[in-house]
Amino acid sequence: MKIALVQSWLGPQAGEPVFPIGLASLAASLPGHSVAAFDPNVAGGDPMAALAEFLRDFSPDMTGVSLRNIDSTNTRVNVSYLKPFSDTLAVVRRETTGALVVGGAGFSMFAKAIMASWPIIDYGVALEGETAFAALADALARGNAPSSVPSLFCRDAAGDAFFTGESAKIDLLMLASPDFSLLPLAPYAAVPWGVGVETKRGCALSCVYCPYGFLNGRRYRYKAPKQVAAEIIALRDVHGARRFTFLDSVFNVPVDHARAVLDAMIAAGATLPWSAWFAERGLDRDFLELARRAGCDTVIFSPDAFGDAALKKLGKASSVAEIKAAYRLVRDLGCFEVSYNFFKNPPGQTLSAAVDMVRFIVKARREMGKKAHFELNSIRVEPHTALAKLAEAEGLIAPDTDLLSPVLYSQKKTAYIEKLFDILLRAAGK
Ligand code: SF4
Repeated sequence: MKIALVQSWLGPQAGEPVFPIGLASLAASLPGHSVAAFDPNVAGGDPMAALAEFLRDFSPDMTGVSLRNIDSTNTRVNVSYLKPFSDTLAVVRRETTGALVVGGAGFSMFAKAIMASWPIIDYGVALEGETAFAALADALARGNAPSSVPSLFCRDAAGDAFFTGESAKIDLLMLASPDFSLLPLAPYAAVPWGVGVETKRGCALSCVYCPYGFLNGRRYRYKAPKQVAAEIIALRDVHGARRFTFLDSVFNVPVDHARAVLDAMIAAGATLPWSAWFAERGLDRDFLELARRAGCDTVIFSPDAFGDAALKKLGKASSVAEIKAAYRLVRDLGCFEVSYNFFKNPPGQTLSAAVDMVRFIVKARREMGKKAHFELNSIRVEPHTALAKLAEAEGLIAPDTDLLSPVLYSQKKTAYIEKLFDILLRAAGK
């Protein structure tokens, strides 16, 4: 079967491109099929005309469209990707007659609403796609009914979508490495976080705004450390990557697997520069030194708040004391850049915590200069999260709100803090 894999277009306002690792992982799970991929986000010119040309040239029997995000989520200015997604689907439907399949994290979070809103989609792949997409392709190639494949949205005779049922989570020890040759790496390699490597899936932490547990499960599933090292070496030696970022929910949790990965990287000489998300709790000098020896040059933290009340309400695992201690560790080692994500006005926010956060930012900028980076964002309410329930309890959303259109959470009683930060950020040109 000829299978086209297409990354959904993010539109003209999208940020810098990210290598579509989901498609690369799908491609590696499709032996026996002829696979070609296209990413309109790096096409230049008219991306939709370029997509049409790709589809006409390849003439696929089946096309999978990956919708990674439906908008820019927790950013200061939320940008919707639904119109370019719609444009992508329209081009695929116009240029091909085979099955049109949509998957990806963005699709999975809003699967029912998306299947209802875009009747031109034939099938939807919910959650992890590697097994279900391959099984769907095999079923269609053999003329079998796809409704026996779990984790799919199919359509009945009336065109209504129905779900075929959940499937077991994928064992990463059995999963092939992503096919990094699927698309030229150069446009993504030029972006600091454009090329990603995963060492595990799942997150046992409970940040209230985060749908990651719904998408990838709360139980950790690990890739073999030697396989991670081999992927990094292939990225460097075969595909020309000069740095990468770890895609794990949090790299240093659980720490034993992270250490095993770092040891394997050092042993194999897989030491490109890299960044990763780190948790403050449990981070120590020994681990950071090991990470540095394995190539880490950028530590990313997402404390989200700077007051213990807000941290607790956000379900974060760290306290303010731990945030400060982790900062001192990174600063004192002197060999890292550090990035922080904070929310302007999360649940539990107080004026004194907001002031302390600003003090922390000023101090870090004074001590680390341009090696310290900060993002102050709004919180997007995602479905399948505790924040959605809180927003419902506070009357911000109705129980049946599908949340396809972004709803931003800002704690009512301190709404002025969000406004104040917006004014300051605009004045700073952000
Ligand atoms: S640590 Fe990250 S992935 Fe895990 S729940 Fe929190 S935000 Fe989500």
